[in-house]
Amino acid sequence: MSSVESAESVEEFRAEFRGWLRAHLTGRFADLKGRGGPGREHEAFAGRLAWERHMAEHGWTCVGRPVDYGGRGASTAQQVAFHEEYALADAPARVNHIGEQLLGPTLIDHGTDEQKRRFLPPIRAVEELWCQGYSEPDAGSDLAGVRTRAALHDGRWTVDGQKTWTSLARANGAPVDPLVADRLARAWTGLQAMRATALRPGAAPSMAKLYCARWHRDLGELAMDVCGAASLTAAGAHGDPYELDDWQRLFLFSRADTLYAGSDEIQRNIVAERILGLPKEVRA
Ligand SMILES: Cc1cc2nc3c(=O)[nH]c(=O)nc-3n(C[C@H](O)[C@H](O)[C@H](O)COP(=O)(O)OP(=O)(O)OC[C@H]3O[C@@H](n4cnc5c(N)ncnc54)[C@H](O)[C@@H]3O)c2cc1C
Repeated sequence: MSSVESAESVEEFRAEFRGWLRAHLTGRFADLKGRGGPGREHEAFAGRLAWERHMAEHGWTCVGRPVDYGGRGASTAQQVAFHEEYALADAPARVNHIGEQLLGPTLIDHGTDEQKRRFLPPIRAVEELWCQGYSEPDAGSDLAGVRTRAALHDGRWTVDGQKTWTSLARANGAPVDPLVADRLARAWTGLQAMRATALRPGAAPSMAKLYCARWHRDLGELAMDVCGAASLTAAGAHGDPYELDDWQRLFLFSRADTLYAGSDEIQRNIVAERILGLPKEVRA
């Protein structure tokens, strides 16, 4: 504790935050208590994000930042009190601790004014979440061996390389790949088409089954492509190393869609013979 910082100021800070937590970790946030701890980072994510934004609105994110950068200028002892009270309240695991505790302080110490202006406010407001991409398949401890490079072409940076072990990166960038984005749009359009068709009077069940089976099978393949390399390993969302996640299950189950309840070939026979009135298939 610094000489200018009294024990009272730490206890005042602690009491203020404890009171705030008691008043606010209630109602729609009450169920979040204890959620999202180590190994459960994906738990109740949307709720935890809303909670952290609520903290930001009330000035309880980035408390250790200097006031000039939007923080409370909390001392180390006050920050310890903050974290102790947070844990005692059984408040949910934070979602932007990497931005708040790693990137933010680094930028304050080493960033340009432009970088500070651009990146510090959305970290504090929990509008932009951060992860850190240091490790590569051949460079973990040996960070000097990282191979990822950025090159400037026509005013745009191209980053080339492979990262691994990236905590809190739920997203792998696949949805912004134009080809994947196109397939996602088609999947959504297909769903709308199925809805509209199902509501049409006289809709033919065989046509619906054919379309739905193909659509669902394609969705499973799309899910695997969006998940990327992670889809190849069985490391379930709940910690069991042999457990499949929801997308892997969807993919495997959707392989059966064109079989159960009458295979595609049978549905096509029905459409051909009963709807289009084509000659019956020759039976052996
Ligand atoms: C749960 C988890 C989350 C992670 N999150 C992130 C993240 O968000 N972002 C990110 O960039 N990385 C992340 N990492 C990666 C982490 O930083 C690396 O796993 C770690 O640095 C070790 O690197 P490595 O796995 O490549 O092992 P290696 O560097 O290949 O090391 C293998 C073994 O050799 C030993 N070894 C290596 N070099 C030496 C040496 N010079 N002297 C003595 N022993 C040595 C190591 O101690 C280790 O036991 C995460 C890892 C885990 C497990």
